[in-house]
Amino acid sequence: MRKPTLGRVHSPGLLRSFVEHLRGREQTLIRSPEPWPLLLLSYPTGSGAIAGEVRDAWLHTLPSLRAPVVAPYLDMMSRLPTIVVVQLRPYNICTCLGHHHPAGTESRLARSLASDLGGRLGEIDLAWEAIRRWRPHPLRTTAAESLAGFEHSHFRTALLTVLLHELEHLAYPDHQERSVRGASDEFYTQVLEELLSLA
Ligand SMILES: [Zn+2]
Ligand SMILES: [Zn+2]
Repeated sequence: MRKPTLGRVHSPGLLRSFVEHLRGREQTLIRSPEPWPLLLLSYPTGSGAIAGEVRDAWLHTLPSLRAPVVAPYLDMMSRLPTIVVVQLRPYNICTCLGHHHPAGTESRLARSLASDLGGRLGEIDLAWEAIRRWRPHPLRTTAAESLAGFEHSHFRTALLTVLLHELEHLAYPDHQERSVRGASDEFYTQVLEELLSLA
């Protein structure tokens, strides 16, 4: 998901991969209720807090939302691979908030897991600090940014928005960016209003 316009496929820089290799990465599996995919989070060692944020957003916030807000994404859940690898980084060099990785471009981790498990596996990446700083569009309530709890509610909402955006690309490779983006914008607005109790 690029900030201004259409998505393309980018690969993280070689230097970054090398640094991450030296520092190491950790993995956490999030077990989701059927038919949602299991999420395998992969993040730099020492960044466990972001794994906790994604887990809470996925397992607690998402199921707690009003049905009409989540409805556009429900069919998608059963079309996704059983496991989706989520590569987490603070930023992407290309400045995108996230990408889906089309078949054949997955990381070594994802490819070796897929061959071990012998099943369908998908992969996306999310740039969590870029997502935290993202301000997608003015809220319907202009004073929202000054409300207590805005930063946390915004981050939670934005994480879910970009996660679901990239999952939609994985589930429906033929969906056009404009329609995927339209669903994201609507979801972001409604979830943030709901978390801030403005709805
Ligand atoms: Zn997109
Ligand atoms: Zn990019």
